[in-house]
Amino acid sequence: MDTEALGKFKETILRDYPKLSLSHTFRFSCHKDIECFNQCCADVNIFLTPYDILRMKRRLNISSSEFLVKYTDSITIEDKGLPLVVLKMRQDEKKTCPFVMKDGCSIYDDRPWPCRMYPIGMAAPDRDYGGNREAFYFIVDQEFPCLGFKEKKECSIKEWKEDQGANIYDIEGEPYKDITLHRFFLNGNRLTPEKSRMFNMVCYDIDRFRRFVFESSFINMFDIDKETIENIKSDDKNLLEFGYRWLRFSLFGEDSLMVKERVLNKKREELGLQ
Ligand code: SF4
Ligand code: SF4
Repeated sequence: MDTEALGKFKETILRDYPKLSLSHTFRFSCHKDIECFNQCCADVNIFLTPYDILRMKRRLNISSSEFLVKYTDSITIEDKGLPLVVLKMRQDEKKTCPFVMKDGCSIYDDRPWPCRMYPIGMAAPDRDYGGNREAFYFIVDQEFPCLGFKEKKECSIKEWKEDQGANIYDIEGEPYKDITLHRFFLNGNRLTPEKSRMFNMVCYDIDRFRRFVFESSFINMFDIDKETIENIKSDDKNLLEFGYRWLRFSLFGEDSLMVKERVLNKKREELGLQ
């Protein structure tokens, strides 16, 4: 899906789809004995969040850089300069997902958020739609004959999310959502190409970001306590949280990180301000 089609799709969801809450109930079940088993794991647009990528690359025991090259395509939301990452389907006739096997998903415990949530989607308005800016759930359109809707089992969206282990993805994805829906973008601003690359590295290529932090002068420029430095050395999740702080500082000018006094003084000197 290109960015124009993506924009139109999102617009349609925000405007036309019934806005569902966690208490909404629906009939659905998916299991290995169902006739359509595995059919949905092909020719789909699965957008990956930073947390999806952390889980998947750890599961596959490869670096984030290798994961991106091997399993993803990237697109940029042009009016915001925001890069997004989408799971790359195989180049076979059906365009199957690289992780689907005869018995189902080979990375099931670490499958990405959209796969866990299906048939539920979630949308967050990035502008006013009838006075409502709240995120909401919706039932995903079926482009294939999904027989899961004919099953008898019924549950609420809340129960479905718990059952599918989706809640941790919501918690870990919150800072990413806050950045992509930041008022900077809502006010019509666009990231410069340099900042777009920075966003891309922090959010999707955590191993490259780690090298950037520890193999450049970065760490000497900011007031970062020793405990944080130790925590981000080897823990991807901690590094990502730190990366979000850096993005808020560098993209939006927030005080989520403090530049060292010594670095500021040098800059003032260079500018002839002292
Ligand atoms: S098409 Fe629907 S019921 Fe069939 S495997 Fe996919 S999600 Fe399950
Ligand atoms: S990641 Fe797993 S669940 Fe998701 S489309 Fe691929 S095989 Fe299916």
